Amino acid sequence: MRRTCAEMTEMATDHMEGRLPMATNALIQLHLMICEHCATYYKQLEQVRAAAASAAADPRPENIDALTSRFREWHAKQGSGCEGAAHPDLDLG
Ligand SMILES: [Zn+2]
Repeated sequence: MRRTCAEMTEMATDHMEGRLPMATNALIQLHLMICEHCATYYKQLEQVRAAAASAAADPRPENIDALTSRFREWHAKQGSGCEGAAHPDLDLG
């Protein structure tokens, strides 16, 4: 079964919330080791999620602003990369 970057990004939220089977988590970890695009994507998503969690825990306007700008920054970067032709796909049978 071929694991592509598109799949990795689709599964990112479920992965971070622990909703995926262990085998799938392992495949994701492997992919992140060989794929800089996805590793960056996961790292940024993790930061956005952390910011969202702290804004939810303490919903002051400045926290919401920080979250909004961080998310915007993250989103702006997403157009560039993950499904590019030079990208290493991982084929794990
Ligand atoms: Zn990837």
